[in-house]
Amino acid sequence: MKFAELREQVYEANSKLGKSGLVVLTWGNVSGIDPTRSYMAIKPSGVSYDDLKPEDIVVLELETGKVVAGDMRPSSDTPTHLVLYSQFAEVFGIVHTHSPYAVGWAQANESIPAFGTTHADTFYGPVPVTRLLTQEEVRNDYELNTGKVIAEHFSASRIDPLAVPAVLVAQHGPFAWGPGPEKAVTNAVVLEEVAKMALFTRQVRTAAEAVPEFLLEKHYRRKHGPDAYYGQK
Ligand SMILES: [Zn+2]
Repeated sequence: MKFAELREQVYEANSKLGKSGLVVLTWGNVSGIDPTRSYMAIKPSGVSYDDLKPEDIVVLELETGKVVAGDMRPSSDTPTHLVLYSQFAEVFGIVHTHSPYAVGWAQANESIPAFGTTHADTFYGPVPVTRLLTQEEVRNDYELNTGKVIAEHFSASRIDPLAVPAVLVAQHGPFAWGPGPEKAVTNAVVLEEVAKMALFTRQVRTAAEAVPEFLLEKHYRRKHGPDAYYGQK
């Protein structure tokens, strides 16, 4: 099988997403790219997670979007994934879901504040919400423009995509990513938990505040960067 390793890796990540509880029916998709950033593998469109096989995974040329392996049509969100890889140089895996708690915040056009240490362990600051796409952006090249508004937000707000590995697209839903497809799925799972906890926090106290900077910093740095000491070596 052509691109066997990449397809297997992306197949495994999609299977993991299918079992994660974040997706129903055929919703959602995971993609991954090869180490040279030349090819992207992604879930085929409209195939259920239970029926998915490694050879169903579609491979495209990253630069042109041309299909180079696989007989099925790639996920309809493919142009969004392609734009994000072209803009986020350290990202090697991307997940899109309509997981309900994250969608709740996205539909409310609200970013998820970093209310506590669960959030800070994975996200170094709020999980941002993008601007709404314009009528023109929705009518033409909708999926491509979805990627562009995400990249635009991270660039304008100077957010490092690996420090905050997720976003909420306004009135749509979450995208999460990471240094590989499997880690991207993990980040999507954490995002959903954090979105749920943040909702409870707001319910308990409407005026709840974000964690102070020193606590955010402590928790993020325990797990990331040169001074990380969480887990096993
Ligand atoms: Zn969607």
